[in-house]
Amino acid sequence: MHPFSYTKVSDVAGALAAGRRGGRYIAGGTTLVDLMRESVERPATLVDISALPLREITTTAGGGLRIGALVRMADAAAHPKVRATFPVVAQALEMSASPQLRNMATMAGNIMQRTRCTYFRDVTARCNKRQPGSGCAAQSGYNRTHAILGTSDHCVATHPSDVAVAFAALEASVHLLGPDGRRSVAFADFLLPPGSTPHREQAVRPGELITALEIPSFPRPLRSGYLKVRDRQSYAFALTSAAVALHVRGGVIREAKVAAGGVGTVPWKLPAVERRLIGERPSEALWAEAAEQAADGARPLRHNGFKVELLKRTVERQLRIVGGAA
Ligand code: SF4
Repeated sequence: MHPFSYTKVSDVAGALAAGRRGGRYIAGGTTLVDLMRESVERPATLVDISALPLREITTTAGGGLRIGALVRMADAAAHPKVRATFPVVAQALEMSASPQLRNMATMAGNIMQRTRCTYFRDVTARCNKRQPGSGCAAQSGYNRTHAILGTSDHCVATHPSDVAVAFAALEASVHLLGPDGRRSVAFADFLLPPGSTPHREQAVRPGELITALEIPSFPRPLRSGYLKVRDRQSYAFALTSAAVALHVRGGVIREAKVAAGGVGTVPWKLPAVERRLIGERPSEALWAEAAEQAADGARPLRHNGFKVELLKRTVERQLRIVGGAA
């Protein structure tokens, strides 16, 4: 572990001042401390923001939800408003990590977590994300768990968060506060695909602090849920996953929000699947036809070709679970 300084702030103004001086925010620490132990991350200054008043979950005027950045994963999963309004969020959280980690990790920290690519965490391996320009050991290495969508020649790592897949499906936004004031970023623009700069992972400006995540309102009733396929049933990252939300009225699908995890360099929204569903009546045939488009544009690597079919089956199964059949 490399030497670093530590300061704890008690208000947002203090956090922003420390952030302006180059301090690195930390709250639950469930990702960053691990990475510091492994010398993957070497921040000079840690700014502990865990005491900031960003722990509320509130209903917005239109019936959406605003989740404070420092709400613990376990608290968000157990919150009655989250469970009643967006079960897909509660389920994604409950299928993440372990109970101990969910009791520590925060919602903002969850979406900011870094990839679990083993080469990223091995400082002796080539990795453009950890050391820009050094290469990508995963391209020719063992890439069974890597991405098939949104990849580039520079990086093929997946984004590991489950709840980020639910946020992508629901078209959430991220609220930020920084030296230039407040702003809000659509979730689709917040996590960045690797392109030629895989070390740039989020649309956060220097010194900015995430204050909340907001899920917009939807027509009711909205059925939603999350399905995660993994090598073992607890404490494992997704091989594939699907977040689905459907509004069905008069026997017809009026709204469809679908995203996939475990397959993309960022949570992967599936607009072609959504378009196929809207205006149709739920049926077994419809779920299969829509899911057939889930892997459009996939570029499998040597060891992860199985994800193409697994993704389609995961999406089909979750459409059936959420939407039922006529
Ligand atoms: Fe690094 Fe990305 Fe390649 Fe993994 S896939 S070794 S994170 S550049």
